[in-house]
Parts: sequence; C-alpha cells; structure tokens
Amino acid sequence: MTSYVSRDHLERAAADEATLDRALGHARAFLATLPERPVRADASPAELLAAFGGPLPDDPEDPADVVDRLAAAAGPGLVASQSGRFFGWVIGGALPAALAADWLTSVWDQNAGLLAAAPAAVAAENVAAGWLRDLLALPAGSTVGLTTGACMANFTGILSGRQAVLARAGWDVEVDGLQGAPRIRVLAGDQRHVTVDAALRYAGLGAGRTVLVETDDQGRMRADALARALAEGEAGQPTIVCAAAGNVNTGAFDPLAEVCDLAHARGAWVHVDGAFGLWAAAAPSTRHLAAGAERADSWASDAHKWLNTPYDCGIVAVADAEVHTRALGAHAAYFGAEGDLVDPLALVPDFSRRARGFPVWAALASLGRWGVADLVERCCAHARRLAAAVGALPGADVLNDVVLNQVLLRFTDDTTTDAVVRGLVEDGTVFVTGSTWKGRQAMRVSFSNWRTTDEDVDRTVDAVARVLAAISRPEHSPGRA
Ligand SMILES: *Cc1c(COP(=O)(O)O)cnc(C)c1O
Repeated sequence: MTSYVSRDHLERAAADEATLDRALGHARAFLATLPERPVRADASPAELLAAFGGPLPDDPEDPADVVDRLAAAAGPGLVASQSGRFFGWVIGGALPAALAADWLTSVWDQNAGLLAAAPAAVAAENVAAGWLRDLLALPAGSTVGLTTGACMANFTGILSGRQAVLARAGWDVEVDGLQGAPRIRVLAGDQRHVTVDAALRYAGLGAGRTVLVETDDQGRMRADALARALAEGEAGQPTIVCAAAGNVNTGAFDPLAEVCDLAHARGAWVHVDGAFGLWAAAAPSTRHLAAGAERADSWASDAHKWLNTPYDCGIVAVADAEVHTRALGAHAAYFGAEGDLVDPLALVPDFSRRARGFPVWAALASLGRWGVADLVERCCAHARRLAAAVGALPGADVLNDVVLNQVLLRFTDDTTTDAVVRGLVEDGTVFVTGSTWKGRQAMRVSFSNWRTTDEDVDRTVDAVARVLAAISRPEHSPGRA
C-alpha cells in the first residue's frame, strides 16, 4: 500500500480525535455523577424540546462543539438507569467491557448483516452465540440471532413457529402468505408480556384471537388449564403455545417441562418468552426455575436487561436451524459443514444492522461463567433483602413469592401505592415503576443492574420509609435526596 497522508487526511483525523476526546470527557463526567445524582430526570419534556430545539441550522458546526451541545442539552433529561438504584421496568445497566465494546462497535461501524461486510462481527457473534447456548441451556444445534430486543426476538420466534406449523399442514407461508392458509391456533398465559401480543399482531396472527390460558396467583400458566385448552382444538390444527420464563411482575415461570410435553403431544410449537428470566438457567441456585425450557422450539431473551450490555440487544434462538432461516432469511441461506458462518441477516428481521455480537462477546468474556451466575444470584439476593425489609414497614405487603429478581409491593391501597411510587421517583434516591397486578395497583422493583450493592438496597429501604412517613404527614413533602 502507498502511504498517502494529505493535509485533508490530517484535518479529518484531528476532527475525529477532538470529537472522541470530548465524548470521553462527557462519558466520564456522567458516570461520576451516578453515586449521588437523583436517579430521575430533572428537566421536563418541554424543557428538553427547547434545549434541543430551534430551526434546522443552515451551516455546519464543529463536531466537537456539537458533542458539547448534545451533552448539555441531554444532561438534565437523562434518567440514571446506569445507577445501582434504578429499579424501573426491567432495564439493567451496562458492564464496563460491554460499554467499551459498544463504543468500538460504533467506531468500527460494521454492517453485521453480512459475513462479507463484517467477518469479525459475525465471528464474535458466532462465538457469543455458542456461549449463550451454553449459559441459557439451549440445545446445541439451535441457531441464535441478535435482535434489537426481546420484542423482536418474540416476533422472530413466532415467525419461526408460524413457518413450521403451517409447513406441517402442507402450507408454505413464505411463498403463499397467510391468505387462505389453515388457521393457526395460538395459546398463551393470561399474564403474557404485552410484546407477545405485539409479535402476534406483526406476524399476522392477531392479538385478539389468542386462547388465554388461566394462570395461578403468581401468574404461572396452569398446566391443567393448558391441557384443557389444547384438547379443545381440532386434531392436527397448526398450534403455537407462547410460554413465559419470568413473569414481568412476579418473576414466576410457567411449568415449562409440562407445557412443552403437553404442547408437543399435540404437535404444537412452543415459544418461550424469557426476556430476563431465561438467565435463571445460568446460575446454580435459580437453574431449577427454567428447567424444561430446553425442550421448547424457540426462545426470546435480552442481553440489554440482565446481561447488562448497553441498549439495544435482544436474543432469539430457534431449535431448528432450517425453520429459522426459512422464516427469516431474506435470501436462501444454507448451513454447510460445521463451523461455517451464515449471514446473520438470515436469523433476524433486520437486513443491515449493528454488530451487537461485540458487546455481547465482551460482556460474557468479562464475566465468565461464574461472573454471570454471580450477577444473577446477587440480583436475586438484593430482591430478597428488599422484600424482607420493605415488607416489614407499616402498611406494606409483598405480593409475590420472590423467586427471582422481581419484587411486587403494595402499600395499604391503590392511592397510597401510587403515591409511594410518585414520591420515590420525586425523592430521587431510587427509581421504581408502578404496575397493576390482579386488578390492583402495585409497585415493582426489578434488580438487574450489576452496579447494585447491599448499600443501595438499604438506601432504597430508607427512601421507602421516608416517603411512607411523608405520605402519612401530608403537610410535609418528601425531601430530596
Ligand atoms: C422486557 C420484556 C420484553 C420485551 O423486551 P424488549 O427488550 O423491551 O423488547 C418481553 N418479555 C418480557 C417478559 C420482558 O420483561
């Protein structure tokens, strides 16, 4: 190669360097605020629109200055979901190795849809896929794709199921579509995650036709109810069963071994939504919860929740590689000799996409098998610690069996429960979200961040006690932490 360093090249390199240096400074400054800043955002949506707003500029701006302005505008509107006291929804933080790998992913800017365009990305993804199969106890021959999240992973699993059950009925849905196809019967627990419904809608199966299977007090599908519901279908009718590994409110698991046995006896496809719960398989003390999951036909999970990669990264796996690639491949894919790499675009709804394999590989490499197990078990221990301490506060009830990382709480009545959630978010020490459980308001606390310590849990208990006390003395508003 000829060396060719012009003035233009030097100027571009200097702009890259100055801009990335500025970003590094902002990144360090942000992470340094985590221990003490309020977890919630400070600015209102209107203030944030104003901060970013104004007409489209006519002229270019120095890229390093743009980064400064971005950090200044976004700063007050950032929610510290990286904080060890962020417990809203199920979100998770970002491990240092995964975060740094994610930066490099942007720097390298590979299009990971195609092996030819991104051989390193595809190789990292393949190795990470093998590690994921191992940790999540998935069958050795299953194919793994990295999606934007578990919603798209559910979609991918259901598309694979749609392909398989219609093919068995003699219908090629990839060629002929759904019009005129045999009707697919879908069964799911009545506490399924909302993204299962979304995935069914996107797959053309509708969300309103699902046979809802009764669940128990923890939101687990009842095996006897599933058996009855399956028996009500016509013999040989294409059927998909959507099961849950980790209810978003309680953390409870459907009886997966029974679900798979019952469904397979009827020739049904079993898809498991294990967005966070499938990670139970990676730790000795929680592994039993996910027992039987390995017998399913497709699985959805997330790396951006419990594995603590940055957004966005979901995981889909399908037991039958041919079904998977037939359902998703934008062009005919084939698996050759063992060790051959396929274009990742054959495994997910995306065509061009980010090289998500780098941060997943880095997260897993930095933790190792025992680090993943420790992360899962620490989060579960935090959940138990919080449930015991908050459950002892006056008027507080723990609504779920704390089997995993989710704690569902209620305070006296709906009004008080909502007020506690609002009061805690405003207080700023922690961030939690409200939920409804069996028709009543609840507060959900999800532990999925590697940063959380016992001290964070204790500060959370103190904050709940402080907010509860303030609510019973309405003349005093809760102080800010
Ligand atoms: C979060 C979640 C989803 C959706 O996952 P995304 O990554 O947000 O798309 C699906 N199912 C369950 C149980 C979840 O907790």
